[in-house]
Amino acid sequence: MNNYAQRVYEDLQQELPWQQEFLQSVFEVFDSLSPLLDRDGRYEKHRILERITIPERIIIFQVPWVDDKENIQINRGYRVQFNSAIGPYKGGLRFHPSVNLSILKFLGFEQIFKNSLTTLPMGGGKGGSNFDPKGKSDVEIMRFCQNFMRELQSHIGPDTDVPAGDIGVGGREIGYLFGMYKKIVNAHQSVLTGKSLNFGGSLIRPEATGYGNVYFATEMLKTRKEDFENRRVMISGSGNVAQFTAQKIISEGGKVITMSDSGGSILCKDGLTPEKIEFIMNLKNINRGRISEVAKHFSDVEFFAGQKPWQLTETAVALPSATQNELDLNDAKALVKNGCVCVSEGANMPSTPDAVQYFLENQVLFGPGKAANAGGVATSGLEMTQNAMRIGWGALEVDTRLRDIMRSIHIISKNTAEEFGSGDNYVLGANIAGFRKVADAMIDLGV
Ligand code: NDP
Repeated sequence: MNNYAQRVYEDLQQELPWQQEFLQSVFEVFDSLSPLLDRDGRYEKHRILERITIPERIIIFQVPWVDDKENIQINRGYRVQFNSAIGPYKGGLRFHPSVNLSILKFLGFEQIFKNSLTTLPMGGGKGGSNFDPKGKSDVEIMRFCQNFMRELQSHIGPDTDVPAGDIGVGGREIGYLFGMYKKIVNAHQSVLTGKSLNFGGSLIRPEATGYGNVYFATEMLKTRKEDFENRRVMISGSGNVAQFTAQKIISEGGKVITMSDSGGSILCKDGLTPEKIEFIMNLKNINRGRISEVAKHFSDVEFFAGQKPWQLTETAVALPSATQNELDLNDAKALVKNGCVCVSEGANMPSTPDAVQYFLENQVLFGPGKAANAGGVATSGLEMTQNAMRIGWGALEVDTRLRDIMRSIHIISKNTAEEFGSGDNYVLGANIAGFRKVADAMIDLGV
């Protein structure tokens, strides 16, 4: 690693030893930036690495709410406003019991570079709560969201910070959050994305992260004259990203052989049919059920309790779409041994650093999350544009723009990797390309 990057990283390690996920994401970015930092001394002179790793602002607040049994519950709420050099803070809200400052800082840090890659004017942020939506009634979810927004509202705004969804925050939660914001400020502003079509959402926003990842993987495969036709594809997760990834893979002629949740994985060797994907969508989005139930309904679907998909069988492509660090070195070895030629990250940082290294060493086409899953936030940017113009584009128009953005992210990541003599190392290319724009803007803006 470049000396300057090493020094800043070691200082962070000493200062924040408990923020493991954040340190992991910083290490990965800094490692990729080394050739740029070796070549261009301006970033050290302007102390960009120190400045880009400290959030501009972190808001932490309590969220008290009353459950259905009239007990008072208390959760922590957070918003990390990481970097606003190129636009208002933009990034999702995550509701999950594992949420803490380290996880939100890693997600917010990644978001800076991801948003820069989209070419849209969006800074980086992330937020959420350790609230667990699982098993809660609709009314409990509404009360929590309302109390969360009661505090968050004074820190966000259409030109300041525009949150969206993430794990545990889907259309239902965005509706309750937006409803409360609108009441408090007495204005219908574009302050959240991922809204329902009924009150200002964009067509294709729910689909965008999954579709975008498939578009990115398609571009990577094209460089080796390959495509998805009849190829086996493993997907992890069964939430928003996983569902629409599966739908798009099937329409591209691929076979989705796995999906999962935190209870285990399902395997369907001949590929899940569109009807089975629809069943999974209803199960997850309406009935809030478990993936194991799919195997009870369909005789050609097996369930593997407590297992991730990666070591179950042979596959050509893996699209991790659940959560961070869900694919480790052993999984990577099994995938390569079983014929995997392409891994593209729908989730944020799902592959551990040694797994990424193994993929790169074994010539697996590897799309890092900040490039491959940028379609979600890109389409959020398109939602903001439509809100500002007070119009709604048709599905084809949004999908075409999404595909164009994913193509351009692929091109800039690949070209930047080539510029630094690193072939098709998309990790290096995406990190340098995303960083360069933000860092140059920070220099332009002064201290
Ligand atoms: P959802 O909440 O809709 O789905 C999450 C899925 O991942 C569920 O199947 C969930 O299973 C599973 N999961 C969550 N945590 C774990 C865990 N610790 N172990 C195993 N499985 C787990 O979230 P999304 O689909 O929106 O997000 C998935 C990933 O994609 C995240 O990394 C997110 O940051 C990233 N992402 C999302 C974007 C979006 O637009 N939504 C945009 C860009 C990235 P269970 O129900 O059992 O918890």
